[in-house]
Amino acid sequence: MKKHNFNPGPSILPQYTVEETAKAIHDFAGTGLSILEVSHRSKEFEAVVNETVALFKELLNIPEGYAVIFVGGGASTQFFHVPYNLLEKKAAYLITGQWAQKAAKEAKLFGPVEVVASSEDKNFTYIPKDFTIPADADYFHITTNNTIYGTEILTDLDSPVPLVADMSSDIFSRPVDVSKYGLIYGGAQKNLAPAGLTFVIVREDLLGKVSRPLPTMVDYRTHIKNNSLYNTPPVVIIYSALLTLRWMKEQGGVAEMERRNKAKAELLYNEIDRNKLFVGTVAKEDRSRMNVCFVMAPGYEQLEAEFAEFAKSKGMVGIKGHRSVGGFRASLYNALPLESVQALVDCMQEFEASH
Ligand SMILES: *Cc1c(COP(=O)(O)O)cnc(C)c1O
Repeated sequence: MKKHNFNPGPSILPQYTVEETAKAIHDFAGTGLSILEVSHRSKEFEAVVNETVALFKELLNIPEGYAVIFVGGGASTQFFHVPYNLLEKKAAYLITGQWAQKAAKEAKLFGPVEVVASSEDKNFTYIPKDFTIPADADYFHITTNNTIYGTEILTDLDSPVPLVADMSSDIFSRPVDVSKYGLIYGGAQKNLAPAGLTFVIVREDLLGKVSRPLPTMVDYRTHIKNNSLYNTPPVVIIYSALLTLRWMKEQGGVAEMERRNKAKAELLYNEIDRNKLFVGTVAKEDRSRMNVCFVMAPGYEQLEAEFAEFAKSKGMVGIKGHRSVGGFRASLYNALPLESVQALVDCMQEFEASH
């Protein structure tokens, strides 16, 4: 039976990425070696890094003055690398979920943190709108897509101070005005590649301003200067990321990804709103296009386990909600086809008809 992969991360990748990675495991770029065993200093791999950086810049329309680097440690390591490199006097954070909370917690190790607003009062079911970004902060940190709760900031905010964004789960899902950000980072395992790679897009003139000494590996300038090859990077994962970027470009770039993502999200949210058995969990205006959260409607709570079992029997994978929300979460990343969303909708309708 066909499986529909709604996993929140690591998650579905384009078939092209999976197949071409498999080929390179047998023979990478005509070297007669597996990509599992090539040197990261080989000219063939250096070409991979260069093309990956070039496609990041092209697809996201990254202006002059920004660097793209690949590092390890996941987005969670960036939670402390960001303040390490940027926090001198104080930082400002918007708290829209657990990832934002974790990021703010790490920043407090480096200096004062001003929480400008939080939606914790309603279990992060909305994005706070009325807040003032302190003009004396070194930077303002946001999480653009809240993977666990299913809310998303779909506009590029205006900020009087450098805007820093964790875009782990919505990078490349829509065009972004990078010039409005000082730094964008994320784990690659949601929309780009298998687990093991972290990307950072940074405006270079923000670096080198803090007075604390920076360990070599923490200092973004190390990785910029060495083209992400200061130490051994995750070779295979960078190659897979390149394949996904090539696929995206061939499909029509991020504008086309956005068009598809809008259509997929609309299809599923419309069904959630129409189906008497289900109800969405977040404010409608803040609904995420990447992670769609829903629970059984009041009066039908007892059907949750039965629906989970039914959906599984129809090939749905990874729709169990995060433990802090419950219910269901369908992640609709770039590589997920509309047909998979239609299959989930069919499943919800069939279940409704039999109850
Ligand atoms: C998954 C995720 C993280 C954590 O990423 P790791 O690479 O596992 O550290 C952080 N922020 C957001 C928004 C995420 O979706």
